[in-house]
Amino acid sequence: MRKQIKIDYGDITQISCECIVNAANKSLLGGGGVDGAIHRVAGPELLEECRALHGCNTGEAKITKGYRLKADYIIHTVGPIYSGVKEDRTMLENCYRNSLDLAKEHGIHSIAFSAISTGVYGYPLEEAVPIAVAAVRQWLAKNPEEEMEVIFSCFNETIYQMYQEELGE
Ligand code: ADP
Repeated sequence: MRKQIKIDYGDITQISCECIVNAANKSLLGGGGVDGAIHRVAGPELLEECRALHGCNTGEAKITKGYRLKADYIIHTVGPIYSGVKEDRTMLENCYRNSLDLAKEHGIHSIAFSAISTGVYGYPLEEAVPIAVAAVRQWLAKNPEEEMEVIFSCFNETIYQMYQEELGE
């Protein structure tokens, strides 16, 4: 069987796949980190489309076109701001699950995730990486008929190594 989960070391805005997942904030009107990078590369039309979406709740996901990105679509999901409570995990799992459900609904077959909540939102990588991998594996197991390639975009060496370890590579 073809490998369904891959790792990419680098900038998510440069990945050639059908869809990339943005770690957005509730306003969906852009921000720092990966969100800022995506808006810069996609161009101002993205902000216009985002305005019409009227925000997004934590754990949920909304889709837009990719504009000047190589990706056709962007899924915007809002991760939890880490506070050490049980709900953090549930919300982070919801981000991955809801993004994959939305991708499936749109006939998308390749999707790259940024490491949601692990930047400004403060989710420790040692916790977030296993949660992300488990949530994706669980979704793939529940959707065996679905042809879906999932890429974890790793922006630095530390994140890259942690995904490699978690995936047993
Ligand atoms: P959040 O607010 O959800 O924490 P951030 O954008 O601050 O979102 O960080 C999420 C993750 O995205 C961090 O691990 C950061 O290293 C990573 N990141 C930042 N810029 C990029 C990029 N251009 N491509 C891929 N990942 C990125």
